[in-house]
Order: sequence, then structure tokens, then C-alpha cells
Amino acid sequence: MTYVFRFGGGVSDGIAGDKETLGGKGANLAEMASIGLPVPPGFTISTAMCQRWHDEGERFPDALREEVANGLAHVEQVTGHRFGDPANPLLVSVRSGARVSMPGMMDTVLNLGLNDATVEGLARAAGDERFAWDSYRRFVQMYADVVLGLDHDAFEEALEIAKEDGGYTLDTELTAADLKALVARYMTLVEEGQGAPFPQDPHDQLWGATAAVFGSWQSDRAKVYRRLHDIPAGWGTAVNVQAMVFGNMGDTSATGVAFTRDPAKGANAYYGEFLINAQGEDVVAGIRTPQYLTRAAREEAGARPASMEEAMPEVYGQLADVFQTLEQHYRDMQDIEFTVEKTKLWMLQTRSGKRTAKAALKIAVDMANEGLITREEAIKRIDPASLDQLLHPTLDPHAPRDVIAKGLPASPGAACGQAVFDADTAETWAADGKAVILIRTETSPEDIHGMHAARGILTARGGMTSHAAVVARGMGRPCVSGAGSLAISAKDKVLRVVGREIREGDLLTIDGATGEVMAGEVPTVSPELSGDFGVLMGWADELRTMKVRTNADTPADAKAAREFGAEGIGLCRTEHMFFEAERITAVRQMILASDQAGRQAALDRLLPEQRADFVGIFEAMAGLPVTIRLLDPPLHEFLPHADAEFAEVARASGIDVEQLRRRAAELHEFNPMLGHRGVRLGITYPEIYAMQARAIFEAACDVADGGEAPVPEVMIPLVATGRELELMKVVVDEAARAVFAERGRTLTYLVGTMIELPRAALRAGEIAAGAEFFSFGTNDLTQTTLGVSRDDAARFLGTYVEQGIYARDPFVSIDVEGVGELVRLAAERGRATRPGLKLGICGEHGGDPASIAFCQEVGLDYVSASPYRVPIARLAAAQAALKG
Ligand code: ADP
Ligand code: MG
Ligand code: MG
Repeated sequence: MTYVFRFGGGVSDGIAGDKETLGGKGANLAEMASIGLPVPPGFTISTAMCQRWHDEGERFPDALREEVANGLAHVEQVTGHRFGDPANPLLVSVRSGARVSMPGMMDTVLNLGLNDATVEGLARAAGDERFAWDSYRRFVQMYADVVLGLDHDAFEEALEIAKEDGGYTLDTELTAADLKALVARYMTLVEEGQGAPFPQDPHDQLWGATAAVFGSWQSDRAKVYRRLHDIPAGWGTAVNVQAMVFGNMGDTSATGVAFTRDPAKGANAYYGEFLINAQGEDVVAGIRTPQYLTRAAREEAGARPASMEEAMPEVYGQLADVFQTLEQHYRDMQDIEFTVEKTKLWMLQTRSGKRTAKAALKIAVDMANEGLITREEAIKRIDPASLDQLLHPTLDPHAPRDVIAKGLPASPGAACGQAVFDADTAETWAADGKAVILIRTETSPEDIHGMHAARGILTARGGMTSHAAVVARGMGRPCVSGAGSLAISAKDKVLRVVGREIREGDLLTIDGATGEVMAGEVPTVSPELSGDFGVLMGWADELRTMKVRTNADTPADAKAAREFGAEGIGLCRTEHMFFEAERITAVRQMILASDQAGRQAALDRLLPEQRADFVGIFEAMAGLPVTIRLLDPPLHEFLPHADAEFAEVARASGIDVEQLRRRAAELHEFNPMLGHRGVRLGITYPEIYAMQARAIFEAACDVADGGEAPVPEVMIPLVATGRELELMKVVVDEAARAVFAERGRTLTYLVGTMIELPRAALRAGEIAAGAEFFSFGTNDLTQTTLGVSRDDAARFLGTYVEQGIYARDPFVSIDVEGVGELVRLAAERGRATRPGLKLGICGEHGGDPASIAFCQEVGLDYVSASPYRVPIARLAAAQAALKG
């Protein structure tokens, strides 16, 4: 087995792009060398040796010594310098490099090979004493720190004292004599620190540094990083040994970092910084202020010191050519390190550059337009989840912020508005055109209308999966939850924190992406939905085969979702409509009625309200399909709590309060999730579903009369048997027939069911006989298949995921093996009975890219996601189609 791979000087032992063996840095160095770019020669000790070194008690096998000697001979031959030769010394850098760039790995050691003898040789060869001693002091300092593990503050301090003694402010002002004295001081520090002198033999230095790189693979920092990023311990790191080139040889030398495009905004312009007469990481270390790469960037920043384009026009020209070559070769934006040694340009590193979501979008679209990549590649390069950053307003980064508290970043986006402390006020103020932030200790289903009316939501209690967080994310409202330092009094309408008070009507800003809470108004910047975003989405739409619908309960959500590209509604829940202030009394009368006549009277009052809801939604969706789920939750969710509420229902229905209370108590359930809900309501009280169906068809006729005919899809929830659906279909069809007869017209509509119980999935063949569509309700299907309550999962699910029992939270990303198997089976059995059966998904999973890929695989017709996740779903569906 070979462990050493040479590069540079026309030699390339490794296979281009073989990051597995060479590590990321080594693979790219070899690749740059092989396409003719100026790379200092060197060799890579493979990742396999890292493993072996650890396995064999941290010792190097003899065979490696020979291979390394060959590697060094290669570097000596190309450079004409000799390792350890006092007359003509070769210096090298020793650099770590795992497959993926990994903090926690050993820092690079530069100028290795220097000792008391070679430093003199370097000075003579370069004709520059100062440069030689500057390199030596850098080497000793780095080696002592990263290889010997000595306290680096002592060395920094010695350097500071040397500068003070000379009355200098910059490192570059130190003279050769100063640096010589500093090295002597460093040598003493090393002896004191490790009880032995600094290693003078360059070979000992090299093996010491190599062992330190391998050793750092098992450092605590590296282990933590690997655990957080799912990097296998078996990968190991490579070691790169490379001839030094010197950016610290005076004013015609420099070192710098650059991106081939702007990594923040994505503009097709070079972007970077450099420092004259400097080495290695001086640029990022902030010792001196770096200069801009391009003249345009310097002018834009209003900076004085010449840019590289101006100071070193010729080398800059070469660098620009290299940028072009690299982008053409890698077909992606590159992040680069370079050094100029006496006007000669050297490339030291390249890799695909990290970028913001905004830049990723612009770069992908630009590169496709430039013909560098295909549209398919552009689509594949964008992480759908990252779009979230672009869809919400963000805080103006330049505006000052008066941060008064920090909570959890529960739902992204920034919002500013007047503080309100209850849902009703939120609703009335919003109706008056005011922007409000709803502040609650925690939220409950009764706050939904207020959450909807608010620009943002702030709570003192509750985590990332609290009611406030889940509902806010679904609505696309920014939310900061669990800001524990806030003392909120809803009664007194005041929030107190750190000696400050926010009262009703005071301005407040929250940032749901960071969890920050700020007093006063911080201006926000709106998201940009046209431009590159629109272009990329258009390409995605051409490629995808699944439709994307939205989960929306209100006309406002439906409108927002259409703007994001929704092609219909996959789930319109009707229960939220029941909570509205003016209706809740009628709803309660309906529930608490002791007989059918009482129930019917209340339903008759609800009918026009429901019809109006549906009209709004049908209009917003102009002609697109709308799936409406008939009433689903257990009735007790709507029951009155407070005495005043009971009194009001009693007054409205003319029933005695005590009787009402008894009736309410009767409705108590031990396990409501598995209780009297879903289709069971329709079976026991068919008049409820009959009213809802009538409202749907009347609304559809109203809208059709005035414009485009909507396509209602009436969905029966929680069905387990074919018979349940059969009975409910009779109720719905009957309502349709009656309404169409009254209106003298007919409309196309479908009746179908949610598949959210394992029995329904298993009996899908039978159920499909009565269903024109299935919508997989994967939230409940996950709960019922796993036997896990979503509301109680927080206590143990984290541990499950940590231990790999479930790869991911099954409520976030579909459990393909279990729940997925049921979906697959139901799809097959359903379609066997009814070949044209329309299939969709409406659980939270409809907005999760991995789950969307699964939906494509099982052949669903559409996915449905909350409005703000519609663009994510469009892109993920395109990616899924490309994979298939
Ligand atoms: P990191 O992964 O932290 O960027 P690097 O190995 O890339 O570490 O090196 C740190 C710094 O040293 C970089 O600025 C790099 O360009 C510079 N450097 C590394 N090797 C050499 C070399 N052979 N000659 C000159 N500079 C080098
Ligand atoms: Mg570093
Ligand atoms: Mg680097």
C-alpha cells in the first residue's frame, strides 16, 4: 500500500479529486497542480496512515520513512533546495486536511526545517537577514504552540515586549537584530516549558509535526465536531507537506485569500483581501488591516491603501486568470489562498466556497446562464431548507438594536409592532390596520386568531415545539418562544425585564431567526421573491412532476401561498373557523345541545359563516383544487371554561347553566386523541358534516357564478373502515345534490379521505372503492403507527434520535421504513382498486425535503405544505424528480 502521494513539478501520484485518500486540501492541491496552476511542490501522507498510526500505538511504520524520504527528494529536486542543508535549506509547511474541512484539527506549521544553522543559510540565500529571522521566530512560535502544546500567551507576550522595547506598533518594524533576540527568548521559553531544548533536527521536526496532525484527529475538539456533523471517526486526516513560498520577502511579496464571487451577495466579482510582506494567516489574524483585492471593492469601501489590482497589476492579472481557470475547472465558486513571492504567484489552496442562501441562489442562476452548469445542476445545488432564510423579512443589518431579552428562535423572520397582551386585542388592533406583536406567557388554541392577526409572537415559556412555535411556523409568523427572563402580566398588560417595562401599545421588535427581543422599532427588509429566486423557482417548476399545494385555513394564508406558487390547497382545516369570537357561542350551543333539534338550530346559525369562509378561500384559489377537511377535533376542545362563557351559552340557548355544565362534563374523554373525533363525529352527528358539506357547495356555486368554478375536494378525516366513508359519502353527495338542484347548476367535486390510521392504510383497497382521493395525514399516521403522542414526545424522542433508534425526528422527516411502508402499501392497494386515485400528503412532512423525495418515489400526485414552505417543496420536488 502506498501512503505518500507527490504533487507539483509535473508529478501527480494521486487520483484527481480523491478526497478520501488525500483529504480535501491535498486532493485540491494535486488537482490544481495537474491543471497547470502554480502550486509549490509537496506530498500528501494519506488518511489511511492516520488510521494505522492510531492502531499501531501512535508509531510510524518503517515503510513510511522510506516513502517520506522519496517525497522529500521530489520536493528537493523541483525546488533545488535541500531539507536540512545549512547552505541551501528547503523549508516546508505541514498542513492537516480531512475529507471535509474540520475545525479542531491541528493548525498549520510554516517554515519547518529552520534551525540555528539553516536560518543563517536562508538569510544568505535570500540576501535578507530580517526575512530569515522573521521566518524562524514564526516557526518556533507555531511549533511550540501546535506541536509541543506550550502556552502560546507567553510567546505572544514576548513578541509584544520586543515591539514595545523598540517603540514599534507593527510586527514588520522589528529589525533582524530584534528578531534574533526574540528567537533566543523563544528558545528559553521552550526549554522552560518542555524541559528540553527546541528540536534542531529538521527530520525530528517533520515527524513531530506529522504525529501532531494525526494526534489532533482524536482531540476533544475534533471529536465534538465530528459528532455534531456526523463525520465518521474512521475517515482520518491526511498530512500535507509542501515547499514553503514566502510572502514575507518584502514589498513585492504578499499573501491573501479570495473568493471567485461574492460569498455574501453572490455577485460575479472577485472578492478578497491581501497583505503585503506577510505570511500565512496574517490576513485573517487581524494583525494588520488587510487591503482589498480589487479597485472596485476598495472604492466602494472608501478605503485608501492601494488594492492588489492597483499595487501589483501584473500579478493581479495572473490571479484573475487563475480564478477563471478554477471556476471553469470546478464549475463552482472557489475559496482560495495564495501567496506572492517576489512578484511570483503561488496557489496554496482552493475549495468550493461557503456562501449565504442569497449568494447560492444568485451564483447558481448566473452560472447556469453563463453556460458553466446546467439548469438541473443549478437546481441540485440549492439546499431547499436554506430558502427559509430568504422568504421572511429580516432586520436591517445596519440599524441599531436595543436588545432586552433573548429567547428561542422558534419561527424565522423579523417583526416589529405594538405590544398587545391578549388575542382579542391583537385581532381588533390589527383590524384597525395596526401592526402588533402578541405577547403571552404561553399560547393555547384559543389564541390562534390573535396569533394570526399579529405580525409576530413572543412567549416567556415553551420550547421549539411548543404550541406557539409550531403554530407560528405553520402560519409563517416570526416567533420568539421561551424568553424566560420576561415577566409578563396579561392582566396588567405589561412586560417587565431587566428593569424595563413594555406596556400595551409600546413598540417592540423580535427576530425569530436569532431569538432576540428588542425595545422600539428596528426597520426590517422585505424578502425578494422575484429576481434570481423567481428564475430558479421557474426552472424547478419545469422539472418537477409532483404538484405542490398548501395547507391553509384562511383566505389570507391561501393568498400568501399562491404568491409562493401553491397550486391548490391540500388541507383546509375547518375547526379554526369555529374558534372565531362571534361564532364560538353558536359552536358551543351546537356541542352542548341535548337533542338533534337544538343542534340543528345552532348549525343553521353557523352555516352562513362557514359559507363565507369557503367563499374567501375559493376566491383566493381561483379555479384550483381545494381539499376541505370536515370537522376533526374532539368536541370538548371547544367547550367553555370560564363562568362567563357558560353563562353566555346558557343565555343564548335558553338552557340552565347547571344543565350545561353537566353536559360538558359528559363530554370529558380519557384519551381524546383516540376518542370521539374525526369521522366518528360525522357518524354520530351526521348533521354537522351535512352542514359543512352544504356550506362548501353553496360557496362553490356562489364563486362559480361570479367567475372561475372551484374544484372542492371534500375530505373525511380519521377513517378506519370502508363503511365509515361509504356512510359519509352519502351525506356529502346528498348535500351536493340538494344544493345543485336549488342553484340549478352542477359542479365537479371529489369525495375522499385522509389515510391516518394503520387500519386505513391496510384496508386501502376497500376504502378506495368509495374514495376518489387519499391524502396521507402523516402527523396522525406517525402517532398511530409509532404509538407516540407528538405532544409528549419531547421527553424521549431526543434520546432516541441521539442513539440512532430513529435516524431523524419522525414527526419532522417521515419514518420511511415504518410509516413510509404503510404509505407505499396504501398507495398500491388504493390504486389497484381505483387506477386514477389521486394521492397526496398533507402532514408536516409535505414541507420536508427528505420526505418529499420519498413521496416522489411512491408516486404521489402532490405534496401539501404550509405557505412558507411551498417554495421549499417546489425545489425539493424538482430535486426529487431529478433523482428519480
Ligand atoms: P487552514 O486549513 O487553517 O487554512 P492551511 O494549511 O491552509 O490551514 O494554512 C494556513 C496558512 O498558511 C494559509 O494562509 C496558507 O496559505 C499558508 N500556507 C500553508 N502552506 C504554505 C506554504 N507552503 N507556503 C506559504 N504559505 C503556506
Ligand atoms: Mg487555520
Ligand atoms: Mg487554508
